[in-house]
Amino acid sequence: MAVIGIDLGTTNSACGVLGEEGVTLIPNRLGDVLTPSVVGLDSAGKLVVGRTAKERLINHSDRTVAAFKRLMGTDHKVALGRQMFSATELSALVLRSLKEDAEAHLGETVTEAVISVPAYFNDNQRHATKLAGELAGLKVERLINEPTAAAIAYGLHDKREGNFLILDMGGGTFDVSILEFFDGIMEVHASAGDNFLGGEDFVEAMIDSVLKEQGMGRDQLSPRQLQNLTMQMETAKRRISQHPEQRLQLEVGKQKIEWAATAEWFEKLATPLLLRSKRPIERAMRDADLPPQKIDEVVLVGGSTRMSLFRSMVGRMFGRLPSCHLDPDTVVAMGAAIQAGLKSRSAALEDIVLTDVCPYTLGTGVINEDSPEQGEYFMPIIERNTVVPVSVVRRVWTAHENQTEVRVDVYQGENRLVKKNVYLGETSVPVPKGPKGEEAVDIRYSYDMNGLLEVDVTVVSSGKTHNKLIEFSPGALNEEEKASALQKLSKLKFHPREDEENRALIARGERLYESSLGERRETIARLLGNFDRVLERQNPAEIKKARARLQEVFDELDGEDWI
Ligand code: ADP
Ligand code: MG
Repeated sequence: MAVIGIDLGTTNSACGVLGEEGVTLIPNRLGDVLTPSVVGLDSAGKLVVGRTAKERLINHSDRTVAAFKRLMGTDHKVALGRQMFSATELSALVLRSLKEDAEAHLGETVTEAVISVPAYFNDNQRHATKLAGELAGLKVERLINEPTAAAIAYGLHDKREGNFLILDMGGGTFDVSILEFFDGIMEVHASAGDNFLGGEDFVEAMIDSVLKEQGMGRDQLSPRQLQNLTMQMETAKRRISQHPEQRLQLEVGKQKIEWAATAEWFEKLATPLLLRSKRPIERAMRDADLPPQKIDEVVLVGGSTRMSLFRSMVGRMFGRLPSCHLDPDTVVAMGAAIQAGLKSRSAALEDIVLTDVCPYTLGTGVINEDSPEQGEYFMPIIERNTVVPVSVVRRVWTAHENQTEVRVDVYQGENRLVKKNVYLGETSVPVPKGPKGEEAVDIRYSYDMNGLLEVDVTVVSSGKTHNKLIEFSPGALNEEEKASALQKLSKLKFHPREDEENRALIARGERLYESSLGERRETIARLLGNFDRVLERQNPAEIKKARARLQEVFDELDGEDWI
């Protein structure tokens, strides 16, 4: 039975399977290998996932959600129509859609998967991803870090060994990793990133610039206008290298304006963002202690690395062009598929060993005598980018007279104040009474391959050890809650697969209708009306022909194929 590999992205997801001939990327019900990570419910309460849902983001914003990967591992819920969903449940719906596509493509049931996660995902987020798999009917034997997956895809594809720098810029995040692939061992030397830098920020900067020029604020646009403007800028961004002089008709507030989206204009907006992206690259190189000439391959991953400005910046930093001969949109899914394939059959590749690093610094809080109002200082115990598994001890002393207990708070983060880091849990141990500073405890943090942290606290004077496994998972479910989530999700059904192309086309037409005015709008309404009538006659050949014709018209109206 095939095990599939899945890249569950913030913006897009993809899946693949390893066969005799290498990796096959699995097309979804619309024939695309990328499925937008967007979920919605239609008026009949049926589930809509992927491109159809993405087309519905404007017209049905109350019943459609995107970018929920950002909420993984939290207990935040979002509304979809009248129901509330967690990010885990929404991810489960995307996974279910991918699973069904894989089953249709392979002609067999699929029950197991390897899913990729960002290297910086913490324990809670990893658990949430595994749970999403379970809720979709997939056993997730292993999670693979996205950069590791990309490196595996490249390493095996090019049969190359050495140091890889992986730059992954997706829709909302930028991740940098340095890995070494040598003698069948893949070792992660460093990972860094910016959780708030991605393709969307370039679009936001474009919108800000247009509004500033018009002397307007975002609050003067209707939500619909803002969505339309976002989509127009998104398209312009993707076309800018090939079409450096685009004339756009924009509607801002009560005005209709013509806007020249030029390459110079875009470059000016993009420069500060590109400069920001240099910081994590430099940090990762410093952490890994590698000069640029020791990097054997710079690999580009994620849709935003298609921007030629990004590529040339990287080219200037490293004095050579980065590798991008594998599709940056699907290379992570390819790597996940390879890992999945290795799991399911014994192959020569079986012995790739992975070692990983802990992506954040883990530490505890200590008294801040300099400025107590700011709260405790953070005392790092395991530094970021330490190779795991790892175990480190630090000693602390009592801070008050006659103290009877020492509390060890566990935090992760890079700030010197604990309040600015992420709280993971705590444990307390009793200590013999005595003067301040007399009693000491040794705090040992052990971090294993799966990203689970264990804390041991030993009272030095008595030698007594207290042990605690830190489990702090907001959004985690017990068996009963899991069963009820499963039941809730299983009530949601897709329309028959065959209808999906028609539904996607209608959703696209409705989106175009919304964003047009006057004659263009009437034309779209007429075309959609005609298409409805064709559908009613239920003649497959006629439907196919009408669909192809309509698609062509929409492509023209959109300026380009819109994924
Ligand atoms: P994620 O990993 O977040 O799911 P992806 O790797 O799929 O994201 O990348 C999505 C981002 O890539 C979007 O912000 C999109 O605008 C951007 N993108 C895709 N193609 C291009 C292109 N040709 N030029 C510039 N940006 C692009
Ligand atoms: Mg991605």
